[in-house]
Amino acid sequence: MRIDIVSLFPEIVEGVLKASLLGRAVDEGLIEVAVTNPRDFSADKHRSVDDAPYGGGAGMVMQCGPLFAAVESLRGRNSCERVVLMSPRGRRLDQEKVKELAAAQDLVIVCARYEGVDERVSDALVTEEISIGDYVLNGGELPALVMVEAIGRMIPGVVGKWESVDTDSFFHGLLGPPQYTRPTEFREMKVPAPLLAGDHAAIGRWRRKEALRVTRARRPDLLKNLTEQDLELLAEAGNEAPVPERENEP
Ligand code: SAH
Repeated sequence: MRIDIVSLFPEIVEGVLKASLLGRAVDEGLIEVAVTNPRDFSADKHRSVDDAPYGGGAGMVMQCGPLFAAVESLRGRNSCERVVLMSPRGRRLDQEKVKELAAAQDLVIVCARYEGVDERVSDALVTEEISIGDYVLNGGELPALVMVEAIGRMIPGVVGKWESVDTDSFFHGLLGPPQYTRPTEFREMKVPAPLLAGDHAAIGRWRRKEALRVTRARRPDLLKNLTEQDLELLAEAGNEAPVPERENEP
């Protein structure tokens, strides 16, 4: 998969792309990411890319010219069929959206700065707008990287074992089950017995039950399309100790 990021701050994007699993995936060619700077497409000698808003008001607005030219320069390398603008006004990113984006051959991601972009960029250059949550950041670079990292996890080979992705929260629509590692007992807190017995069917059942239980307690909105067996597991979980409170209800 190829991803082109359009950003006034290539150094922010490139720094993260070099690190960790994402960096390795880029090195191994599992995912190709390039950054294009709209400043390189500015028509004036000061290389400016923004101007004051018509009608007045605080801040500056990114102009159409450099952004259209930057995206159009990618043609030939990128189909430009999907041009995503990172924007607090966009559709909220979730795992379903991430899977859909990961299935694309290529993607262009536009990061804005200042007060955002001239509305004609939204109207005629980008094909969709995506937000990473209901808060405002200074620029689209961190949101773009959040999205690229999430997309990267969906590409086979990026995360060493597919099983890690398959058991992630949200991948199958539920929160992930609890996990434990050595030692079996720490300050009188024991690892649950089913995980230690080596019976894979029983471990699978326990994990599904715990995933259902934690999802019901913290994100009941995610409990959809449950099977008969899920309902039985939830009933069983209902008779056991409750999940600790966390303030993360939607
Ligand atoms: N005035 C704009 C916010 C501009 S913030 C408004 O009220 O909508 C500058 C840029 O940062 C945005 O254009 C966008 O590219 C990026 N950005 C900020 N918050 C974001 C978020 N929650 N999700 C995605 N992109 C965001």
